[in-house]
Formats: sequence, structure tokens, C-alpha cells
Amino acid sequence: MIMSQKLELPLEPQAFAEDIFRIVSHPVMQEVYRFRHLIAKAMRDFLDGEGFVEFDPIMVGPVTDPGTRGAFEFRIPYYGREYRLMRSGILYKQLLAAAMEEGKIYFFYPNLRHEPIDAAKTGRHLVEFVQIDLEVRDADHFQVMEIAERLLKHVIDEMKKYENRLRKIWEFFGSERKSLPDVKLPLKRMTHREAVELLMEHAKDDKVIKDLERRFGVRRPQDRLSFKAEIPWEWEWYLSKIHKRPFFIHDYPRGARGFYDREYPDKPGILMDFDLLAPEGHGELSSGAAREYEVSRVFARMRETNENPELYRWYLQFLRDHGKPTAGFGIGMERLVKYICDLPSVHLARPAPKIPGVHSP
Ligand code: AMP
Ligand code: MG
Repeated sequence: MIMSQKLELPLEPQAFAEDIFRIVSHPVMQEVYRFRHLIAKAMRDFLDGEGFVEFDPIMVGPVTDPGTRGAFEFRIPYYGREYRLMRSGILYKQLLAAAMEEGKIYFFYPNLRHEPIDAAKTGRHLVEFVQIDLEVRDADHFQVMEIAERLLKHVIDEMKKYENRLRKIWEFFGSERKSLPDVKLPLKRMTHREAVELLMEHAKDDKVIKDLERRFGVRRPQDRLSFKAEIPWEWEWYLSKIHKRPFFIHDYPRGARGFYDREYPDKPGILMDFDLLAPEGHGELSSGAAREYEVSRVFARMRETNENPELYRWYLQFLRDHGKPTAGFGIGMERLVKYICDLPSVHLARPAPKIPGVHSP
């Protein structure tokens, strides 16, 4: 059993099924939950101050986003039809950013994703989690990257005020962190191509390869790097580990993301999108993009990924009649709590975490 040394706190996911009260009443876990509250408040303050309007999440509908990296959808019977629980609020975000006079909207959006069992090993994937999910009309990915970095800086600067309390959490979980970073804007930006080139350079080091093989149980991680695909988990961890401050990767290749990430009209195969990564091995905090909003382009992209346009009837009708350029991103709440509190695993950021494959409360 993994135990934190000081006050007995069982940390593995199964422990939540065995005695959840013992975990959620633990003084350190209570502090983590209080920080989740403080972080949520800091984000709301920032977004409200920027003129965003908050909406309540829409939980069920005829279709949810196409999902990435093999996370399936949950289906429920719905008056003679089959509806879906939302994997993300992307379709509704575009609708509301286009419709609202303010043109700036956000949700605290609970998402349900049937993540593959393997995802449990990353320490970063839950089945149930919350995204702070926002969308802005008449903006592109570069403009919302600026919002993302200012939002993150605001959260980190606010949490710095509580560093004495945070230090106790860090110590408890055996973290070597002494302080949160001084965030200077703009954050570092690199394209997906530049990130992969950098990693290919580091992949020449045998020690790096051996370490990744041992940590992640993958064979020959150097063969998994590609300019045409998503950065594999182990390499994303590595890239994050060699950074001391948050940073962006942008311009992912088509095929790495869903049909809603817009392709540069003048750079076929490259998407107008980005990830915001936390340093110190925490990895992806947020994904965002400018949206594909012209119906013909959306259709073409749907065909590539074998989406059934019939399911997306309301969305395609909305785009055809009222579609507007928008851009947005979602920041994972639990990922952000994990980063700020430097937790060993994301499941510690929720009181009743749903970990892929674990039957917990
Ligand atoms: P995505 O659009 O899939 O990148 O999701 C947006 C954000 O939600 C990600 O950047 C993560 O911070 C968070 N997220 C995505 N999937 C999960 C998951 N399975 N568990 C926890 N957080 C997640
Ligand atoms: Mg992502």
C-alpha cells in the first residue's frame, strides 16, 4: 500500500472504495479541496472581470464531441432514442459564443469520458472531471492563447499568496518544490514541429530512453515520435519535466485533433490549435483552438474521421445558418489542482474520483 509517511493516508485509487471517509476527512486532503475552491474562485473572478458570461453545463444531448485518444462516450436511453453524456461542451460553446451579444462565454463543465484502462496509469486521466471551458467570438487561437496565459498567471499569482499553506501540502506528498514560479508573460511558445524536433534530439540520449521505458513500460519510445501525430504521453511528460514554467505547443497536425479544430486555410494539414502545458512533469493543462465553422469544411473533416453527420444535425444546421468564427479552450480543473498542489496523481484532486477500471464510490 502506498502510504504517505506522516499521517497515514492511503493514496491508491482502490482506497477510496475501501474507506472514503478516512481519505476525505484527512487534514491534508481537506486543504487540497480548499485549494480547489480558491482556484475556482480565482478563475471565476478573472473571467467575470473580462466580461465573460457563465452558463450551466448541458449534460445530455443527441451527440457529444468526437473525443480523442480513444475515450468512448456514455450512452443513455432517452424517450425511445439514445442520447449521450457530454465528453465536452464544445458544440454548445460555439453555439453560445455565436449567439450571445457579449461574444464571450464560459462553463465549469463536468465531462464524462470512458477513458481506456491504460489511461489509469498516466496519473492524469479521470473518467469524470471538470473543464473550465470558454469560447470567444471573432477570435483566433493566438488571441485565446493570450487569455489562457493571463488566466493561468492570475491563478498562480493568487495562489502564491497562500504559499505557506501550499508548502505543507507539497511536503506531505514528498514534493521538492519550494515555490510556485514567477510567471512572466508571454509564456514560451513552440510549434508541434519544434517540440517534436527537440524531443528527437533528446531521444538520442540512451539514458532518456531507458528512463522512459522504465517509467512508462513502453518499448522504443523514440519510434513513437512523429510530426504527423499527437505527442505520446511519455514524451509529453518528458517535455513538461524539463520545463520550470508553463508553456505552449501550437499548430498540431491534422489527425491529432477533432474536426472542430480549424485547419490553416494556407497551411493544409496544420491546425490552428494549441496545448498549454504545466512544467515539472505535470503535462497538459489545457487544449484550445480556432474553430472550423464553415459547413463544407466541417463536412470534409467529418468524412476524414468517419463521423456520422446525421447525429450532428442541430449543430450543422446552426453552423449553416449562423456559424461565426470563434476560438476557445478548456482547462482541466483537476489537472490544475494537481499542478498547484503538486499532487502525485490527479485522482487526489477529487473527493470521489472515477479512475478508469476502478469501481469506487
Ligand atoms: P481536451 O479537449 O480533451 O484536451 O480536454 C481539455 C482539458 O480537460 C485537458 O487539457 C485536460 O486538462 C482536461 N482533461 C481531459 N481529459 C481528462 C481526463 N480524462 N481526466 C482529467 N482531465 C482531463
Ligand atoms: Mg487535450
